Amino acid sequence: MIIVTKPHISDAEIDHIRERIESVGMRTHLSRGEVRTIIGCIGDESLLDEVPLRSMPGVESVTPVLKPYKLASREFVADRTIVRVGGRDSEATFGGDTITVIAGPCSVENREMLFDTAHVVADSGARMLRGGAFKPRTSPYAFQGLGARALELLAEVRAETGLPIVTEVMDTRQVDLVAEHADMLQVGARNMQNFALLAELGHVRRPVLLKRGLSATIKELLMAAEYIMANGNHDVVLCERGIRTYETATRNTLDVAAIPVLKRETHLPVIVDPSHAGGDASLVAPLAFAAIAAGADGLIVEVHPDPERALSDGDQSLPPAAFTTLMEGVATFARAANRELSPLRHPARAVA
Ligand code: PEP
Ligand code: MN
Repeated sequence: MIIVTKPHISDAEIDHIRERIESVGMRTHLSRGEVRTIIGCIGDESLLDEVPLRSMPGVESVTPVLKPYKLASREFVADRTIVRVGGRDSEATFGGDTITVIAGPCSVENREMLFDTAHVVADSGARMLRGGAFKPRTSPYAFQGLGARALELLAEVRAETGLPIVTEVMDTRQVDLVAEHADMLQVGARNMQNFALLAELGHVRRPVLLKRGLSATIKELLMAAEYIMANGNHDVVLCERGIRTYETATRNTLDVAAIPVLKRETHLPVIVDPSHAGGDASLVAPLAFAAIAAGADGLIVEVHPDPERALSDGDQSLPPAAFTTLMEGVATFARAANRELSPLRHPARAVA
């Protein structure tokens, strides 16, 4: 149920409405937009049958939310959410008018390659660094990531470059450790429906990058976001990274339509991973451009100083020069879509 209030409702009137709703055992969520304020009701809506919401002072309209996702739905939140990652000096933002690019290696392999990649991607316009520490590999014999050592390296490279860090957390037992080092926690495609992990991330004060599951529907992706939000963390960025279809010419099939559908359904930012979608370095640019044309708020791209020698995902990783060229194209497509690449550093900082 969502309650849209009249324009000049007082705080006391809002409090009164919320108290009545909560008195029957439902939870409320307040969203103050520029134009309207929305009070969302979460729980069993039949509990409100006897509450005369429509006649309460300050209430403009009362509408049931038929979607199974509430906190993630556009009806529930007045404005689009802008997710802010990192400190004030080096903040990356997702949502709004800008396109934000995250780039870096699939896995942190060693100090040298991590620092080299970080400098290259920062110089080319990436605003965040990615790098896997704990890797979800199909084979137990494949490189599993450097684990805690990689987290330390990521924290060091952030100190040197100012780039906020995103890295994957695979298990509830890793959440505290990863949150201590990283600015944003990634839930990988294989864990999109690990509900215990999602619930745990609801209690963390770090934004979450939630990747779509290999065969997850858009609704399932939104319900996964709802898990994190229902547990208290509303800073969720969704990532379309390709889904499994009958097509074998590409690693996955980028679901371009998911981008405008998600933007219609949710106020959360949506980014695209063209690297895992195509699984091939030559497909990264066209898929990235398609994503921006379709309204994506950003990209996450794999870059490696020497893809041939990469310990994971070398086929889809861009060498530095190709990433620089990609970013020139991204800037052009962003302008065509009435957006621009996220400016360097925090805007307040640039002026100072
Ligand atoms: C990754 O980002 O390296 C990764 C494993 O992605 P996904 O979970 O989308 O496969
Ligand atoms: Mn990868």
